[in-house]
Amino acid sequence: MVSPRPAVQALPAYRPGRNPADLAREIGVERAVKLASNEVAFPPLPAVVRAIAAAAAETNRYPDNGAVVLTAALAERYGVDPAQISTGCGAVTLCQELAQAYTEPGTSIAFAWRSFEMYPLLAQVAGARAIQVPLVPGREGGPADTHDLDGLLAAIDDTTRLVFVCNPNNPTGTAVRRAELKRFLDAVPATTLVVLDEAYREFVSDPDVPDGVELMRGRPNVAVLRTFSKAWGLAGLRVGYLIAEDPAVAEAVRKTHVPFSVSMLAQAAAVAALASEDEVRDRCAAVVAERARLTAALRERGLDVADSQANFVWLPLGEQAGSLAAGLEARAVITRPFAGEGVRVSIGAPEENDAFLAALDAVRGRQPDDAPLR
Ligand SMILES: *Cc1c(COP(=O)(O)O)cnc(C)c1O
Repeated sequence: MVSPRPAVQALPAYRPGRNPADLAREIGVERAVKLASNEVAFPPLPAVVRAIAAAAAETNRYPDNGAVVLTAALAERYGVDPAQISTGCGAVTLCQELAQAYTEPGTSIAFAWRSFEMYPLLAQVAGARAIQVPLVPGREGGPADTHDLDGLLAAIDDTTRLVFVCNPNNPTGTAVRRAELKRFLDAVPATTLVVLDEAYREFVSDPDVPDGVELMRGRPNVAVLRTFSKAWGLAGLRVGYLIAEDPAVAEAVRKTHVPFSVSMLAQAAAVAALASEDEVRDRCAAVVAERARLTAALRERGLDVADSQANFVWLPLGEQAGSLAAGLEARAVITRPFAGEGVRVSIGAPEENDAFLAALDAVRGRQPDDAPLR
């Protein structure tokens, strides 16, 4: 009998998220709302759809493995050299490539916890030790929902090759501010690469939350991860990018690149999305406005909600997380529970957010259970 590596055997089996069409059929409603994966509710921009359609006619060919056109567009957009950029099949693939490029057994990867679920898995697959530093309360008396950068710094040792700082943090939505992040970056050993995972950067509205690409300048052990999956609306196409201050970092990541893994359609769509940045910004502003409305509505219901800088909100419900999410799902609203911790709810279209609030009220007994969801 063949057997996978023990580290792989120990990995949890992949559990696919609930599909809204299946759920709607199962509970006998016309439509279920999915607020579980931090996607944007808007369809792809018309220019993006046109670019995909045009590229479709050339898909008998391999994509450009160096993503030259996309890389040049990104370099122009961020004011960096193309050599500082590496594109990937989603930012998750870049995380994997970073782990391959920088870690091996005997080394470690440090990150806050709870944070992006991929980080501990990366360490496990790489055979590296995961150093998890618990979140701390962002407000006095509040739940532990914010990065403890001093704790993270103290936890880094001479085996630590990579540190992920997810800012804003998934799933809590909280963000670290400029002064504290600068202090942290200045103190991290030069032999440890800090990856600022800014998957949600485009939804940041607080000017005190720094842009990693600016903070990175002059710090050769800092890189920034971004994605087209969230604000740019291309989750289904899989394209993300890394920008590193030191081109050697981007080069190391490119060396571990799975050949041709950024598809031709993804490259074409990302280039078209970048050219439509004004429209993308308008959409982000709409999400931010809905975020404020939803946060206020939740607080008005007596729920504790941190200020989110991302396109989701976090309900720190502890042991009630699973039952609330199940109750919402029974009312055709899919959210993302983290057992024993909380529920993450993505910001959807206004009517989807209303459906969430109505389902929440029904679950919590604020309205009769048969209240129309919409
Ligand atoms: C969604 C997400 C990503 C990347 O997603 P891709 O779809 O793989 O580009 C990376 N980091 C965090 C924290 C995320 O939430």
